[in-house]
Amino acid sequence: MATTLLPILEAEPLLSGATGSGVRLRDGHGRALTDLRVSVTDRCNYKCVYCRTGNDGAQYSELPIAAYARMLRVFVSLGIEKIRLTGGEPLLRTGLLELVRETAELRPAFTDAPLDIAITTNGHLLAGMAQPLKDAGLSRITISMDAVDPETFTRITRVPGGFERVRAGIRAAQDAGLGPVKINCVLLRGFNESQIEAFAEFSRSERVIVRFIEFMPLEEDRTWTPETVVPMSEIVARLNAVRPLVALPPNHASETARRFTFEDGVGEIGIIAPVSEPFCGHCSRIRLTSDGKLRTCLFSQTDHDLAGLMLRGASDDDMRDWIRGMVQQKEARHHIGEPGFLKPSRSMVHIGG
Ligand code: SF4
Repeated sequence: MATTLLPILEAEPLLSGATGSGVRLRDGHGRALTDLRVSVTDRCNYKCVYCRTGNDGAQYSELPIAAYARMLRVFVSLGIEKIRLTGGEPLLRTGLLELVRETAELRPAFTDAPLDIAITTNGHLLAGMAQPLKDAGLSRITISMDAVDPETFTRITRVPGGFERVRAGIRAAQDAGLGPVKINCVLLRGFNESQIEAFAEFSRSERVIVRFIEFMPLEEDRTWTPETVVPMSEIVARLNAVRPLVALPPNHASETARRFTFEDGVGEIGIIAPVSEPFCGHCSRIRLTSDGKLRTCLFSQTDHDLAGLMLRGASDDDMRDWIRGMVQQKEARHHIGEPGFLKPSRSMVHIGG
């Protein structure tokens, strides 16, 4: 897949009060980097089969909330407009509300639109947190939920008693005005492909956006094979067999999901197909791990130690210059399924999605 090389380093007028050099952050392929995913912990209260081993006692790494707040401020000054807080499970993090509150005060450098702050959570702790997160300035919420029946749900999360808590979390998020709530379902052959049709009805009955995600080789157990992937073509065929899909336009150029509704317009389905239909050409994402490493791609073989630079006394300008240099090396795309493909240096729970 050829990557289009775009002109780089076009100066853009900084908005008043914004800091930084007036040049939007772009990678070496000319792609504007506007989305930052930040893991605030790699601890989790679930043990999902496509992500973590079942073992307890794993080593965890977190930074003080103030460290993330400073790094976020620097990234926003470089042109980041969307911040997604992830984990592990971010709602386990003490100080999360303070981080959301502080981040919501930041102003994007190149647009008048407010900073878009989202969280991806497994929903287990959400019922009690939805309103405080909304009040702190959270814009949107995505809940990872891989089944709409308690047995399959527990078989995947390997933690009993979570299903009803997550349902309550969805309702609390809707009541708090964090809708439309998105539900991310990772499809794993042999575990939950049976949930496809039921999730389509769930989208309609619960007024949520259900997004199916192809299983990616990012799990700790190294169980991924091409056969474990339920490809987009199969998902579409199964849904069309029950209720014809109608394609919807993307919300923006770098949207990862293909969007659909049904003939009557009730319900919305998204399909994120990084394995069978890669979308790297418009990638606008970079990541910060819970131990403060910059990752230029989900499938990077290396990390770049931003927290270390900061803790050694770097100024905000030093960090900006350093980040600009690092993203020049951002990978053009992933190479899943190609000869020589190497699984990334970290598993999903230690990257943050
Ligand atoms: S695989 Fe890497 S380059 Fe491709 S969309 Fe994901 S983060 Fe971007």
